[in-house]
Amino acid sequence: MFPREFGLLNRVFAVLVLASVCAGCAYVEPFVQELNLISVPEEKEIGTKFEAEIAKEMPLVDDSVLNGRIQTMGERLLKGLPRRDFDYRFHIVQDKTPNAFTIPGGIIYVHTGLFDFTADDSELAGVLAHEIGHAYERHPAKAISRAYGVAYLSQLLFKDPEGKSKKIALEIAKGGILSRYSRQDEYEADKVGYAIVKKAGYPTRGLVSFLRKIRKLEGSGAPMPFLSSHPPTLDRIARLESFENSPPTI
Ligand SMILES: [Zn+2]
Repeated sequence: MFPREFGLLNRVFAVLVLASVCAGCAYVEPFVQELNLISVPEEKEIGTKFEAEIAKEMPLVDDSVLNGRIQTMGERLLKGLPRRDFDYRFHIVQDKTPNAFTIPGGIIYVHTGLFDFTADDSELAGVLAHEIGHAYERHPAKAISRAYGVAYLSQLLFKDPEGKSKKIALEIAKGGILSRYSRQDEYEADKVGYAIVKKAGYPTRGLVSFLRKIRKLEGSGAPMPFLSSHPPTLDRIARLESFENSPPTI
């Protein structure tokens, strides 16, 4: 939101001013939620730090077929973005739950369980595009900015008090509080995801058919870490279906 040259203290000051201006208004929360105080270069640095911690702590998969599939699909989807802030990277985690998550800096993880759960490329592309949408809109950076504040995050880049970056990275990876986006974030990720799936030439109904399967599991009481913090699945399906008649632009 602010250029890097703007300086940390100035940025903190600007936020205090913005917060005080807004303190009496009814829309403080959505307004503050939109503040993203980490610059893109800072976000990249934090992401690379988290990526290294996750590589040490989680079982990543080195399988040329699976990695090749997700890499090729990711590249095809990324071509549809109006701008690329990051060198997007895709990793696979050995975990049987059908999950995917995104850490700051355009770094996206897909569980092996997602390959088994998705019926075809269109469903997998729908989920991957949704995660790219979170990265593109910088939702992970916004979420940790809200939770920790810019001063603390900047400190993380220079020294890492008590291995805190590992704790934060794993918190995101394991679906903890930090990976919980706002309802608006989820709708934005669906919108960007739909647009890039369409541009890439995949069938646009993949995410909807995936969500319908998730919906069935929700009804069965099975644990569903993926999407558990998302807006109601039926709302998302209805929005995605409305895009068939009026495709969103990004
Ligand atoms: Zn999401």
